Amino acid sequence: MVKAMNRSLLSVMLGGFGAEKQGSTSALGQDKTARSGNPQDAAFIMENANKVIIVPGYGMAVAQAQHILKEMADDLHKNYGVEVKFAIHPVAGRMPGHMNVLLAEANVPYEDVFELEEINREFATADVAYVIGANDVTNPLAKTDPGSPIYGMPVLDVEKAKTVFFVKRSLNSGYSGVENPLFFAENTIMLYGDAKKVTEEIVAALEQNK
Ligand code: NDP
Repeated sequence: MVKAMNRSLLSVMLGGFGAEKQGSTSALGQDKTARSGNPQDAAFIMENANKVIIVPGYGMAVAQAQHILKEMADDLHKNYGVEVKFAIHPVAGRMPGHMNVLLAEANVPYEDVFELEEINREFATADVAYVIGANDVTNPLAKTDPGSPIYGMPVLDVEKAKTVFFVKRSLNSGYSGVENPLFFAENTIMLYGDAKKVTEEIVAALEQNK
């Protein structure tokens, strides 16, 4: 429907889907606002997308969300014709190869899984980056802030996607303790909650909408 109407998905969602705003005070003491949505909003946006890139991180491992994530990817591809890819950062999670192991366990096809340097330029052509339990590996301060402890670490350029969903329980920082400015970006929607539960609700909505 939205594809046919040629409207911006984000504007549709923000215009009519009850996206809420949540205030936060940053480490620097500045007031910032993060937008949040719900799983039904996210399902709607993703089923109308051409390309979705999934970025898993430590929180996906904690929640053991890899199986439902595979189901979401299959649903989007088979029922809605969406191109779905998985982007793996070399230090995502808490041990080398952490994400690869979990995605393999969930039978995500090897050819759908891409390393950072293979996929990074594709965010610019993605409608959605679905960042699930990942944080530091997306933090653009690694590119821009020489004073940051993560400065110089290569990161996934998720902010180049049209819409970025962050699935996590709060605005808290990750392992590095560095705040992620992307939570407050114009094209970011926070999906607050446990990674598995949120993704289960998205899959339920995708099933209902088909
Ligand atoms: P991060 O540690 O940066 O962030 C993980 C995020 O997951 C948190 O911000 C947390 O947010 C969220 N989270 C935790 N539990 C859940 C849950 N149940 N559901 C949803 N979200 C959850 O992880 P990344 O993978 O992005 O980055 C890895 C970090 O670990 C890097 O800093 C890396 O250097 C470091 N590291 C990696 C090692 C490796 O070998 N891979 C080894 C040692 C360190 P919230 O609390 O809001 O939910």
